[in-house]
Amino acid sequence: MKEQLAELLKQGRAALLAAESLDQLQEARVGLLGKKGSMTAVMKGMGRLSAEERPVIGALANSVKVEIEDLFEERSAAVREQELQQRLASEQIDVTLPGRTAARGTKHPITLVTEEITEIFSSLGFGVEEGPEVEQDFYNFEALNMPKDHPARDMQDTFYISEDVVLRTHTSPVQIRAMLKHAPPVRVIAPGTVYRRDSDLTHTPMFHQIEGFLVDRDITFGDLKGILTTFISQFFGKGIGVRFRPSFFPFTEPSAEVDIQCVICGGSGCRVCKKSGWLEILGSGMIDPEVFKSVNYDYQKYSGFAFGMGIERIAMLKYGVNDLRLFFENDTRFLRQF
Ligand SMILES: [Zn+2]
Repeated sequence: MKEQLAELLKQGRAALLAAESLDQLQEARVGLLGKKGSMTAVMKGMGRLSAEERPVIGALANSVKVEIEDLFEERSAAVREQELQQRLASEQIDVTLPGRTAARGTKHPITLVTEEITEIFSSLGFGVEEGPEVEQDFYNFEALNMPKDHPARDMQDTFYISEDVVLRTHTSPVQIRAMLKHAPPVRVIAPGTVYRRDSDLTHTPMFHQIEGFLVDRDITFGDLKGILTTFISQFFGKGIGVRFRPSFFPFTEPSAEVDIQCVICGGSGCRVCKKSGWLEILGSGMIDPEVFKSVNYDYQKYSGFAFGMGIERIAMLKYGVNDLRLFFENDTRFLRQF
């Protein structure tokens, strides 16, 4: 039996040393010391031994058992340590990877253009005024020389809140409010949201305008041309062609529409400028004395000019956007480009 135990120890050592995982170690241990293991099988021979031999073999078997247990513990600790090292190596955090940054928003192109126009006019001495979007008929039409039944009201498909209250159809009522508030001289620009019952490829029911006006003694059409030409060369770049075309607005006389040389084709003619080489960008004119009467300005003493432009149109020309609706769909793929 001594030889059997010695052989058992030898094989047990080999099995434990060969095991590569905790499962394999456990399996080897059960095979050696478990109820159905090699040790149990060897110990069945104890019954055939003499009374003198039994304690000697018993002690030997015990020491073999202790040795196997010790080796098992030792190997388990080693395998556990090895598995831990492997896990640390494979789950290692690479601190050199760039972190995930939070997506940062950008300003809407309409906001960008509004700010740029406002900045240019501020540098020319204009102050900024704002007015309500829900407006009284008086400020939106009446005081701007458009009495009820005036044919010019047809140009403006209006959203009526009640008979005398409307969603403002232009930023011009701010002109009236500002003139009632301040005595001349005044230089004001008024950016804002306006509403018309219009919806197709080139019109949206809500859009943005910027209105400007200047009133002082001896203001002439030359001042109007000077200020607007300065604005255009600052906004679209020096050397761009500008022309003034006679037009009609109820609240200015004389009136002019202002065109710039087509920014797409440079004036040679393309689809955007309808082969004309010119693009209309704003309306303007000398303020009608009738408007001065409704705000109690002395039209014998003062004169002035006013102008207005659609911000969406300016933004489309500046950024080469060909569909107005893109400004209102809030598609981040579009907005991120600005
Ligand atoms: Zn063109």
